[in-house]
Amino acid sequence: MFLLPRAMRLSSTCRGRGARNLYYLSKGSPGMPALSANTTTTPVNPWTHSPATHDFRSDTLTTPTPTMLASLPTCSLGDDVYGESTTTTNLESRLAALFRKPSALFVLSGTMGNQLCLRAHLSHPPHSVLCDVRAHVNVFEAGGLASLSQAMVQPVKPSNGLWLTLEDIQSTAVISDDIHFAPTRVVSLENTINGVIMPLGEMRRIGAWAREHGVKIHLDGARLWNACAVEGAPELWEYAAEVDSISVSMSKGMGAPTGSVVLGSEELVAKARHVRKAIGGGIRQAGVLTAMANAAIDEVWSGGKYRVGDAWAKRLEGKWKALGGEVSYPVQTNMVWADLKGRGVTEEVWSACAEREGVKVGSGRIVCHFQNTIEAVEALERTMEAACKIADKKEELE
Ligand SMILES: *Cc1c(COP(=O)(O)O)cnc(C)c1O
Repeated sequence: MFLLPRAMRLSSTCRGRGARNLYYLSKGSPGMPALSANTTTTPVNPWTHSPATHDFRSDTLTTPTPTMLASLPTCSLGDDVYGESTTTTNLESRLAALFRKPSALFVLSGTMGNQLCLRAHLSHPPHSVLCDVRAHVNVFEAGGLASLSQAMVQPVKPSNGLWLTLEDIQSTAVISDDIHFAPTRVVSLENTINGVIMPLGEMRRIGAWAREHGVKIHLDGARLWNACAVEGAPELWEYAAEVDSISVSMSKGMGAPTGSVVLGSEELVAKARHVRKAIGGGIRQAGVLTAMANAAIDEVWSGGKYRVGDAWAKRLEGKWKALGGEVSYPVQTNMVWADLKGRGVTEEVWSACAEREGVKVGSGRIVCHFQNTIEAVEALERTMEAACKIADKKEELE
């Protein structure tokens, strides 16, 4: 039951209809799905009723919207491996212009985007990639740097606890041909990292140092959109100017079903395209995916919807602090890291309270997005209240 779309769990009469795209909330006998308006059944359609409304586990749980669906009938059905998917090439040129990079490539996931860029920067071992110890490329990509690039990772703990500084990097980077070491060829940055914005000023310092030493810089910008959606933030291209490659997500807070776009020089992107094919990432009728990514940029990025998730995060941070809670990182974008342990809330109590309120959370990490509703945010606030009451022994977990 856990994995079924929420819409399917609203009524027991919906059970057993998993093979259909439309689920019906019955006000009588639903009979055959009827699409006309004058019927006693109300269609509950995951495109119009997103299963993500009450989901705070990750912004990757956002679902494509009706506008994205509506982009499909006019998308190109050309083969992208043959270079004939005009919808895909449109998306790529549009993003290349937005980030002011010479070339762009649509890839199946953020993981694939990062791994292709890093592979493209590296030639042959011995070589190392330096990154934040918490970086996605280090922790969450199934060891891709080892298997795909034969690279050693030089993980660094940021001294300020938030993001890597030039000094952090300099203290670990190997800029020498001493045969004991695997030289640092790439510094891989991440922005935002755990919802925290890495300042453009620091990226400029790191960029200048890297250019001086012939080290490449990759930016895992899965959530760079979030950093740039904040009031008064730098432009996307200002961050992109400091790095040799960048990967940005279409499926996290943007809401498209899957995919990322990598950007860089013509040469970098050509190499990435070649390796993408080698690992089975050549996409035939890619227009089906890229049309939705294009529509997502209009609706979510240009439409200012990243700010919706940020506003929910601020509000939830306020609630948590009012209840005496602390956060492990400053809330600058769409994530709230509620320190459950510090407030005496156990994981068990937290998930039980969340389940009772019908919200999905993963530990104390709360990730907001444009599809969360006010009802869901209120339910999460009640979750916090209930969990704190139990922590304070004013109530017991039933
Ligand atoms: C989610 C995420 C990725 C990976 O994206 P997928 O599309 O899930 O592979 C990479 N980097 C960061 C920072 C992410 O948050």
